[in-house]
Amino acid sequence: MRPYSEALQQLLSDVGRLSQSEVESVELMNATGRVLANDVVSPMNVPPKDNSAMDGYALKLNEADGTDAERTWVVTATRLAGDATEINVLAGQAVRIMTGAEVPEGADTVIMQEEVTRDGDVIRIKGEHREGENIRVAGNDIAEGRTIIAAGTRLDASHMGLLASVGVDKLSVYRQPTVALLSTGDELTEPGQPLPAGAIYNSNRYFLLPMLEKLGCKVLDLGTIRDDKAAIRQAFAQAAQDADFVVTTGGVSVGDADFVKEVLDELGNIDFWKVAIKPGKPFACGSLTKDPTKKAGYLFGLPGNPVSAIVTFMLLARPALEQFSGQAVQPLAMLPAKLSQSVRKRPGRMDFQRANYKVSEAGELVVTPFNSQSSGVLSSIAESNCFIVLARDQGSVDEGAQVEILPFRQWL
Ligand code: AMP
Ligand code: MG
Repeated sequence: MRPYSEALQQLLSDVGRLSQSEVESVELMNATGRVLANDVVSPMNVPPKDNSAMDGYALKLNEADGTDAERTWVVTATRLAGDATEINVLAGQAVRIMTGAEVPEGADTVIMQEEVTRDGDVIRIKGEHREGENIRVAGNDIAEGRTIIAAGTRLDASHMGLLASVGVDKLSVYRQPTVALLSTGDELTEPGQPLPAGAIYNSNRYFLLPMLEKLGCKVLDLGTIRDDKAAIRQAFAQAAQDADFVVTTGGVSVGDADFVKEVLDELGNIDFWKVAIKPGKPFACGSLTKDPTKKAGYLFGLPGNPVSAIVTFMLLARPALEQFSGQAVQPLAMLPAKLSQSVRKRPGRMDFQRANYKVSEAGELVVTPFNSQSSGVLSSIAESNCFIVLARDQGSVDEGAQVEILPFRQWL
């Protein structure tokens, strides 16, 4: 059995990544979830000019002697946001200014209106003030020429706002990987159909499809194939031509109807199978062609048990798909947390126990394992928010001990 980190390294080196030429141009509005192919450099300063952070008065603060409270200014004009008519603020003058309006020439400070008393056109200011106060300086959010988003970033809503703020409306992104999704199993029935004796509903298809889409993949949903070697061979051969990746569930262990591994071995090369993780031991992967010069789909053969399928998808297929998509692969972001009750474990496999973390009243991160850790219990994922990650050689852990947790709901 391969240790997890070794299996992941091998997988990442086998799947590689899209080349710099496999890019396309998208409109800003359609770019969420896509992976940026080039750094984006800001073509401008944000804000473009000094502007006011408050509704108040723009003036030159220290042009006369005396404390702020002793001096007066005469209001000569008003400037609203969006108004750029020329105004020159002379000594002793002030301009009524609104939030977001450009600071007029000659003014160096904005005094918020709550700090001002006004009598006709004459204002006085309360308290002591600092030159430059309440001015958002040009370029202080983003300076022209700065790299604002690095190549390899998957664009989210915050990036959309940032790109819009510098006026960018088209982006170069990697093409989306195509993934063929297949379930195997004679026992599988689709929701909406009556359930025959001996059957169960296909659940894997229904969580893998949205998880793949969330990763930015184009999914070819190929439904279910029976546990029949010829049918599996035909489906794999076709899928390998149509898609960059083939994701299957079921049929990878050593049962009498488990043909996925056999067919992968026949058509292509098994990279490895059996990773020392729990849940998820029977996981097979490899290229669906024997010819290394030929481009064909790469198969992730996930186990049939729903929890094993979801865990191996999150831990192995997901990072591989992210890397292939052009994203920078991040190490698992684990957090330390205190166990609210003991957990049982036998040394031998790295364990990903489903659990819930929360912040206790004392302000500590505390984690409680889900009551069933069986790999068939999908409710353990639906009702949890993290894995307790226990090292391969680790045994049981006592209540109160510190463990590492891996939040996972961002992938669902
Ligand atoms: P297998 O890996 O094919 O031996 O399947 C292991 C277990 O997972 C069996 O109990 C299967 O019935 C179950 N299983 C396989 N595929 C699915 C699926 N798509 N949805 C729900 N359960 C499944
Ligand atoms: Mg099966």
